[in-house]
Amino acid sequence: MNALPKFSNLDTKTIKPALEEKLDADRKFIDGLLQQKNYSWENLIQPLEDMDVQLSNYWSVISHMNSVVNTDDLRKAYDSCLPLLTEYATEMGLNKDLYQAYETIAHSDEFDKLNKIQQKVITNALRDFKLAGVALEGEDKKQYQAIQLKLSELTNKYEQNVMDSTDAWSKLVTDESILKGIPDLAKQGFKQNAEQKGADQQNRGWLIKLDFPSYYAVITYADDRELRKEIYTAYCTRASNKGPHDKKFDNTTLMFEILKLRDEESKLLKFKHFGEYSLATKMAKESKTVLNFLNELAEKTRPLAIEEWKTLKTFAEKQLDITDFSAWDVAYASEKLKLHEHNFSQEELRPYFEVNHVIEGLFQIVQKLYGINIVQNTDKIDTWHQDVTYYEIFDQDKQKIAAFYLDLYARSKKRGGAWMDECRTRHKNSKQELQLPIAYLTCNFTAPLKNKPSLLTHDEVVTLFHEFGHGLHHMLTKVDIAGVAGINGVAWDAVEFPSQFMENWCWHKASLNLIACHYQTKEPMPETLFNKLIASKNFQTGMQMLRQIEFALFDFRIHKEFDGEDKIQEILNDVRQKIAVVPSPSFNRFQHSFSHIFAGGYAAGYYSYKWAEVLASDAFSLFEKTNIFDPVLGQRFRQCILEKGGSEEPLDLFVQFQGREPSVDALLKESGII
Ligand code: ZN
Repeated sequence: MNALPKFSNLDTKTIKPALEEKLDADRKFIDGLLQQKNYSWENLIQPLEDMDVQLSNYWSVISHMNSVVNTDDLRKAYDSCLPLLTEYATEMGLNKDLYQAYETIAHSDEFDKLNKIQQKVITNALRDFKLAGVALEGEDKKQYQAIQLKLSELTNKYEQNVMDSTDAWSKLVTDESILKGIPDLAKQGFKQNAEQKGADQQNRGWLIKLDFPSYYAVITYADDRELRKEIYTAYCTRASNKGPHDKKFDNTTLMFEILKLRDEESKLLKFKHFGEYSLATKMAKESKTVLNFLNELAEKTRPLAIEEWKTLKTFAEKQLDITDFSAWDVAYASEKLKLHEHNFSQEELRPYFEVNHVIEGLFQIVQKLYGINIVQNTDKIDTWHQDVTYYEIFDQDKQKIAAFYLDLYARSKKRGGAWMDECRTRHKNSKQELQLPIAYLTCNFTAPLKNKPSLLTHDEVVTLFHEFGHGLHHMLTKVDIAGVAGINGVAWDAVEFPSQFMENWCWHKASLNLIACHYQTKEPMPETLFNKLIASKNFQTGMQMLRQIEFALFDFRIHKEFDGEDKIQEILNDVRQKIAVVPSPSFNRFQHSFSHIFAGGYAAGYYSYKWAEVLASDAFSLFEKTNIFDPVLGQRFRQCILEKGGSEEPLDLFVQFQGREPSVDALLKESGII
């Protein structure tokens, strides 16, 4: 039951045939179940849930490896499976007999006798059948099926273009003076890149790639303005027809096609637009709620952001002699301004954030809060890459309750960014066997060098805590039915609640003390540096908040306002004109690599970050009032939020924890806006 997947001997040739076999068996299994006379939880839903778990377990390994150790063969196999899976999922959603079987149970006497979790599984299923088009007939049904297939193909292609155009760009620098200002650590990485590229280039220079840590090092620190401009241009034109990239990775047409298909899909299902369709499963119920929320937040934030922007520009002009201030100067000048105002740089913190020590400290923090113990399992655990480590979580009674794989470093053929994904979901099957949850935690931090461990920036520490918060939501669940265990069935605009909540422990001295220690001297972080870091928390907070709102409004509006024309750039320009204080150059094609909304689950839902941040700040304010390690509050958070997964409405769970509905005040206060 709890055997771990074998990653190392995945044979790409067997992926598709094995999947076909599974899907066929599942179809027959469902037909068999539907032949029964009386439907019940035991004879219909439990076996279906068990079946779904088996399929997810199989596919999770393939889809994960496709993201983190992509090869041509694996990609080919993955691509050939996507239509099969989409076809299968669409068919299930459109299966009227299955829908009626659920309806029968929902209206039977049995329903009232089921527990809350079982009832939630059934009500979610009925809702999802409707959203999956179960009411469609004839031509509409055919069209709906075709749309699903096409959408899965196009969103997958979008993501591949982002990955390929990122990997395809590099710049070899042979004159070291061009790299002036860039931290040694990053330079050593560039040197190693050049060496790895091939013997003929040995020691011949520095190879800059476009992964985020490399981009960050150049855009933030390079004194050479031309170099900054070059990497900025390459980065923000990825997968587009602008900039230096191979045009074969251009996402322009795909984006329009994706929006068009989403619009058609929503209209077939009788929604006004995709925004409305997206909200059918979220906490926010109406488009105007989302738009008002974002616009009001923008209005409150804008005056502060304008001030911050003016300060930055004036500083750049006076101190850095930059008169034609441009997008590729923003990160650079901001870093210099921060140094000026707070007298420290991100790089100064790095030696105190050695990745292994940070991880140990993180484990201590969650131990204090939730009473769990996390232990690395150093047995020969099979993984997909030598850098991956494996951990197990034990509860107070020493029972093992979950596990996770940690894959920390950036490398090519690995999707950028950081995320948590499900390897196994908690589930008790009809034989009463319990499958424990297992997570994949993936980051893209700077890899350790030959003789130096990986040293993180504070931003990277925050990212690690964020993903770990998702991980806890997945792993500490006590729900025994996979469909609503962990993050499953959680309204998407509440999914970022536990993750952003966890970030708070990166900003307090008591918790930072547990994660920060000099990697050579083993000295704790000096008091003065702590104070500077904490004082800098709200540095450019207005500009950052506004940027997130800009993305969120752009996302929601392109979905809501779609009218058959390609207005993506036009809407982006309009949002920027109304909201943004930092101007973007006309060649900026940020939207072409905005995978969250074009390839991930955030379509017409990017506002979720801000929405959930309100919950996170409000919940954390209780800890601030007492003690950030308060075990009583910790247990309450665990019981009310983390353990419940998607088994209850997020607003109800929040109220159970907080004793009242959420308020935006804590967020505004926390960010220094009020
Ligand atoms: Zn997240």
